[in-house]
Amino acid sequence: MLNPGDYRVNPIKNTSWIELDKQAYQNNYRYIHSILKPNVKYSAVIKGNAYGHGIEKMVPLMEEAGADHFSVFSAYEAYKAFKSKKSETKLMIMGEVDDSDAMEWVIGHDIDFFVFDMARLELAVETAKKWNKKAGIHLELETGMHRTGFDERTLSRLAKFIREHQSQLEIKGMTTHYAGAENIANHIRISNQITTFNRLSDKLRRMKITAETYHTACSAATINFRDSHMDMVRLGILSYGFWPSRESFVLHIARKSKKNPVDPLKRVISWKTKVMSLKKVNVGEFIGYGTSYLAERDMTVAAIPVGYSYGFSRLLSNTGQVLIKGKKAPVVGTVNMNMTLVDITLIKGVKKGDEVVLIGDQGKMTNTVSSFSEMTQVVNYEMLTRLPADIPRIVV
Ligand SMILES: *Cc1c(COP(=O)(O)O)cnc(C)c1O
Repeated sequence: MLNPGDYRVNPIKNTSWIELDKQAYQNNYRYIHSILKPNVKYSAVIKGNAYGHGIEKMVPLMEEAGADHFSVFSAYEAYKAFKSKKSETKLMIMGEVDDSDAMEWVIGHDIDFFVFDMARLELAVETAKKWNKKAGIHLELETGMHRTGFDERTLSRLAKFIREHQSQLEIKGMTTHYAGAENIANHIRISNQITTFNRLSDKLRRMKITAETYHTACSAATINFRDSHMDMVRLGILSYGFWPSRESFVLHIARKSKKNPVDPLKRVISWKTKVMSLKKVNVGEFIGYGTSYLAERDMTVAAIPVGYSYGFSRLLSNTGQVLIKGKKAPVVGTVNMNMTLVDITLIKGVKKGDEVVLIGDQGKMTNTVSSFSEMTQVVNYEMLTRLPADIPRIVV
C-alpha cells in the first residue's frame, strides 16, 4: 500500500511511483540464509541502481533486515551507497574505479574493490601510500569468462608485486565471476570455471598469496552449484525476489518442494500509476498513432501517464497489460513516449485517478516483471534496471 504521507511530501509528483516492500526483502533475506551454510557470508548486490529499486532507499531497507555487506559496480555507485549506509556496513566495488581521484576517495573511505590488472594494482599501491593506509583489494582471477581478471600466466608477476607492497595492500578477497550459471547449457563451462578458480587460488597460495574471503557465486551459481559458495556469495536478483532464470526455479522446486511447489521468494518492487483520462471509441476507429489497433467493437480506453521514456517498453504495444480494479487491461495501440492507452471496456466503474498497477498485485491479480519481460524478450534484469532513477521510490 502507498503511504500517502510519503508520496505527497513533494507537491510536484512524477507520473508514476515505485513501492518497495520491506517485508518481502526480509523474507528473501531469510530464504537466502536458509540455503547457505551458517559460515557463508551474504553480500547484497546493488549495482544498476539496486536493480532499478533505487540505491538510496534499498540500502537502509536491506540493512534493517540484517544485510551488512554490499556490492556495487563502480566508484560512482559506491558514492551513492555510502551516503545512505550505516558506518559499519561494508562496500565492495566489483568493477570500475576509473581514475586516481576515484581511487583516493575509495581507499580514503575504506571501500574494498576488485583488482584485475596491474595498472589498477599499481594505482592502488600508490594511492594507499599517500593515505598511509592499506587498500582492501579482491584479486579477480580469469577462469573462463574472458571479461576481466588476471590470466594464469601473470600470476607469478602478480604475487611478486604483492609481496613487495605488502604494507599497502590487504587481500580481502579472491574472486571470479561465472559466465552464465543460470543456464543448464553452460553447465560444463561453469564447472570448469570452479575447478580453474580452485587451481589458480592454490597456485597463489603456494606463492604465499592468500585472501581473507574466497567468493565467486552470483544468484544462479548459488542455486545451481553448491561448490561455488565458498566463504561469501554475491546475490543480486535473488535479493529482490526473482529467479535468475526459469531453470533455477525449476531446480529449486525439484530439490526442495515438489510436495509444496510454492515460490519461497517475494517480489520487493511494485510500480504504479493512476488513470489519467477516459474515452469512448466507436467500432471501426483506429486507436493511437497509426493503424496498429482497430476497434472491432465499441470500446472504452483509459490513458495512463507512463510510456517508453519511463521504461515501459515500446515492445509492449498491443501486447502488454496493466491491472485496474483487480482486472487485466490490455495495452491497445503503440506505447507512446509518455502515455499508453489500455482497454477497459470490460472493467466496470473505472474513474480518473484510479490506481493502475504496472508491476505488482491488485486484488487477486498479479502483473509480474517476467510477464512483461518474456513478452518483450527482455530479461528481468534489463527490465528492472531500465526503470528511471527519477521515479519516486517509497518504502512500504
Ligand atoms: C551482477 C553480479 C553479481 C550478482 O548477479 P545476480 O545474478 O544478480 O545474483 C555477482 N557478481 C558479479 C561480479 C556481478 O557482476
